[in-house]
Amino acid sequence: MAAGNIKILVIEDEPTIIEFLRTGLKYEGYNVLIASEGRRGLEIAQHTAVDLIILDLMLPDIDGMEICKKLRIEGNKVPIIILTAKTSVADRVSGLDTGADDYITKPFSFDELVARVRALLRRTGNELEKTVLKTDDITLNVETREVMKGTRPVHLTPTEFSLLELFLRHPKRVFTRETLLNRIFGYDFAGDTNIVDVHISHLREKIQDKPPKLIRTVYGTGYALQPENE
Ligand code: CA
Repeated sequence: MAAGNIKILVIEDEPTIIEFLRTGLKYEGYNVLIASEGRRGLEIAQHTAVDLIILDLMLPDIDGMEICKKLRIEGNKVPIIILTAKTSVADRVSGLDTGADDYITKPFSFDELVARVRALLRRTGNELEKTVLKTDDITLNVETREVMKGTRPVHLTPTEFSLLELFLRHPKRVFTRETLLNRIFGYDFAGDTNIVDVHISHLREKIQDKPPKLIRTVYGTGYALQPENE
């Protein structure tokens, strides 16, 4: 199934997070539905065949937990990822007791979220998503987190891994430093975009990226993956 056929319902009232999710998920090719109120979200979930729900717990009208419970009581098995600012273990457990499949605590990075979305869609058989990404002599396995350069294992930090995964998923797409910063560090990260250059430079070193570079610098803009054989 192509990502464009996958419908994700976001039930969230915080405008910043709504925009962050809408933009990011659309960029990944998903079909995104937004409900900024709990009742409206529940209605959509009850009447539309969505493939996954991203559900905030603290909503102005009804609690996200109630929505989750209600859907499960009605026999709705849609995969649900709970977004929560609460970090206590009790809250997490009760979230999963309610029938949610996964949870993610705020603040989160888009990368972390999209990884959970992909994993959950894979688990529920809704997406024939590639778990092994390849280009030239680089192989990245999303599930085992292994990266190989030819037959040599490459050890990357989580940030370097995320960057490489993003490039491999979108060959030739130009990513600005701002986009990369946002993707890796989250919507509330107010850092210098130079940090992106630092991570890219470490990544290039580790994969021994020699000219003509696989991860190309797009002057004045950012970076793009440019496979050698294309
Ligand atoms: Ca909220």
